[in-house]
Amino acid sequence: MKSALFYLNLRLIFFGRNMPQNTVIEIDSNSGFCAGVINAIQTAEGILKRDGMLYCLGDIVHNNEEMQRLTNMGLRVITHEEFQQLRHTRVLIRAHGEPPETYRIAKENDIEIIDATCKVVLNLQRTIRQYCQETTDGQILIYGKQGHAEVIGLMGQTDGKGKVLSDMEDIENVDVNHPTRLFSQTTQNIEEYREIIAALEQRFALADNAANFKHADTICHSVVNRAEQLRKFATQYGTIIFVSGEKSSNGLYLFDICKKANPNTFFISKIEQLDTLNVLWDKHIGICGATSTPMWLMEKVKTKILTLNT
Ligand code: SF4
Repeated sequence: MKSALFYLNLRLIFFGRNMPQNTVIEIDSNSGFCAGVINAIQTAEGILKRDGMLYCLGDIVHNNEEMQRLTNMGLRVITHEEFQQLRHTRVLIRAHGEPPETYRIAKENDIEIIDATCKVVLNLQRTIRQYCQETTDGQILIYGKQGHAEVIGLMGQTDGKGKVLSDMEDIENVDVNHPTRLFSQTTQNIEEYREIIAALEQRFALADNAANFKHADTICHSVVNRAEQLRKFATQYGTIIFVSGEKSSNGLYLFDICKKANPNTFFISKIEQLDTLNVLWDKHIGICGATSTPMWLMEKVKTKILTLNT
């Protein structure tokens, strides 16, 4: 006898391109770029419209579709190795920010920096730098993704006193005998950050060093608020299409929030994926995305869904 799952899969495949009658599709009005990304893109666009070309250190936003649009306008994405070879030119620093080393190289090589580091990230960099200057034997912990551009920028402020915590396992290696200040990458998952804080508090308390540990609330409010709004949005529709770049940290986090709130949530990074997605379409469809998802892309997704059954 075939299992219920077998019949469910058949149903999903069968209905993959069929829309119910009177379908309502709505885009989450709170989705789309956050203020930091808007500023970086508008800065780049202003220069590209005038000069037709601009170097950018790394992808300005973790979204291939938006990157393609900006590349078509003349944006040239370079690596740090390529950056070191440049002389007498201009380079944009994206919202994630950069370590001091990048500014030093720019000065030496006569590179004008167009600094689009997000204010929230700049503020966090400043706080970390300040703590470093004030402490002699303190350590800095940064809860974030190892190798992420923002984390590299934050670590650059720590003067060798910083360590990255990527997950719970890393907590075991934290030295509890020094004054310690914990910060988070701005786009991390707030629930996981709270768990990390609780686990560290416990470790320091067990070593009778509770006073040594302090933490700062450094997750960006755009991400925290977006998570709350999406949790609500996802429950209001039968089917959710979540649009985001695959490399976007907050995209993966926010998708997870939607999926938990509504299991009938599907991730796409480009419009063409709608052709092969095995969706059980409800007549109420919600489209939403990350802080790095352009509104124009979600609108195109809506248009494409409307054509699926024609
Ligand atoms: S998510 Fe927050 S910190 Fe990151 S770029 Fe956007 S506004 Fe800035």
